[in-house]
Amino acid sequence: MKKNENIVDVKGLKVQFDIKQSFLQEIFTKKRKIVKAVDGVDLKINKGEIVSLVGESGSGKTTLGKAILDLVPVTEGEILFKGKKIDFSNKKEVKKFRHKAQMIFQDPYQSLDPKSLVIDAVAEPLEINNLVKTAEERKEKVIKALEDSGLAPGENFLYRFPYELSGGQRQRAAIAGSLILNPDFIVADEPVSMLDVSVRTGILKLLLGLKESRDLAFLFITHDLSLAWLISDKIAIMYLGKIVEIGESDEIIKKSLHPYTQALLSIMPIPEVHKNRNRKVLEGEIPNPSEIPKGCRFNTRCVHAFDKCKEVEPKLIEIKDGHFVACHLFEEEYNGI
Ligand code: SF4
Repeated sequence: MKKNENIVDVKGLKVQFDIKQSFLQEIFTKKRKIVKAVDGVDLKINKGEIVSLVGESGSGKTTLGKAILDLVPVTEGEILFKGKKIDFSNKKEVKKFRHKAQMIFQDPYQSLDPKSLVIDAVAEPLEINNLVKTAEERKEKVIKALEDSGLAPGENFLYRFPYELSGGQRQRAAIAGSLILNPDFIVADEPVSMLDVSVRTGILKLLLGLKESRDLAFLFITHDLSLAWLISDKIAIMYLGKIVEIGESDEIIKKSLHPYTQALLSIMPIPEVHKNRNRKVLEGEIPNPSEIPKGCRFNTRCVHAFDKCKEVEPKLIEIKDGHFVACHLFEEEYNGI
């Protein structure tokens, strides 16, 4: 395996939506209301690497994951896949990219049609892309994908409907569907949050095993920092459409710098993380992404905010090898400003 081989390179990605306003509101305010769901994100994911994207709901995590896969339109920025910029206006290129980049949803029913047998639901990407010649070949590929996803023997699951499976089995069948085209990259959006605690570990072990055995790269989206710590190589913390801190998982958990990361950490139920730290409670709600605060977007909730924070937006700067943070406190400390 080539270490550090880049699979996905996101540059300056922005996703914005217009908010529908009434005619009178538009006349009255004289301007369009825009939601900046993703507001200039740079992110690299290497082969055989799991990068977790962590933040509260409303931070833009899912929109970013979908935008990378072209499931929501990108307003600005570019995505390189294995070093090559994807031209999303080129249908052939997009089709090729979609073979190699897949999504696992929080709710397996988003990828498994409840009215289809497991064999048909899992084989669907093969059919759409005309990738099998015989029924036997189709069946063999589905059995392999099911067994690689922990549903063994695969034969036993082919002719069941998704509602006949347990929650964990259903998520495994959905994962089989995402593996059937042999992807290089998977966006896993809260893949265990709807499952019983008892089956979560099994699914997480499955993802870790796939990363090892297939050198798969993952973007693992979660609101749960302890889960991110358990599964990922790197953690990116997202707040109101921007990454505010990113680094190796252990570094982010044990030596986090950004006040938002520290507030998220303070609610982690792991005593070792709280050793030598004061608990910082995160107060208030995440602001509406159509009204992002001026300056540092976290300033309305930050216990350390000072004048500059209300005026100037901090840049994401490298504090030490691979550990980046966007906070004026550290710009000053490390740049000698
Ligand atoms: Fe807090 Fe200011 Fe740092 Fe933003 S820049 S996180 S408001 S201290």
